[in-house]
Amino acid sequence: MTGVHVDYVFKLCLIGDGFVGKTTLRQRYLGQNLSTDYLPTIGADFATKTITYWKDRGNMLRIKFQIWDLAGQAKFNEVRKFYYLGTHGFLAVFDITRPETLQNLTNWLLEAQKLLGVLPPFIVLGNKADLRDEHNCTPLSPTAGVHFVRQHTDHCPAITPVYLETSAKTGENVEKAFETITRLILEHMDI
Ligand code: GDP
Ligand code: MG
Repeated sequence: MTGVHVDYVFKLCLIGDGFVGKTTLRQRYLGQNLSTDYLPTIGADFATKTITYWKDRGNMLRIKFQIWDLAGQAKFNEVRKFYYLGTHGFLAVFDITRPETLQNLTNWLLEAQKLLGVLPPFIVLGNKADLRDEHNCTPLSPTAGVHFVRQHTDHCPAITPVYLETSAKTGENVEKAFETITRLILEHMDI
């Protein structure tokens, strides 16, 4: 459909280590409507989705997301700047069953901050929450995620810290993650 009214277009970027579930989260959120455009020059692709966001009762916004996902992993270092450029919000993802993926999120956020000059709103997602009760797994506690977010926003009062546990497998909190980053972006824009 063309000519459909859109109030805002937001670029969202998924960041985090390989295998934490970034691609699956995006797929889960987009459902059947998934259609992506791969940009080989920057090793990333994006998909779009337009949603209706109720800011409050009677105040409806049409928001179009461009959701970016890195195709490969670390090998695209030099071009990541283009990946980050113009980002309105980051979804920073780790895997609750692999503590090192939470530690590495610091590097991802620092890199984005360095390349962009200032870090836009972000939300931290502890993914694979469905594995919490697996027998052979010692998952990170939710406190670790909350603590991480607090640490990374202490020096940055403009950013509201939010941590959510998600499962791209069951869908737990997937909608909520995108809703929440939308709210943070709008707050940040003073809308
Ligand atoms: P990416 O490298 O961060 O894009 O990770 P992928 O989305 O490719 O996922 C890596 C692997 O983890 C795949 O085998 C997924 O099926 C699996 N995976 C992703 N999200 C979840 C989740 O929430 N729960 C479980 N159990 N597996 C997941
Ligand atoms: Mg991927």
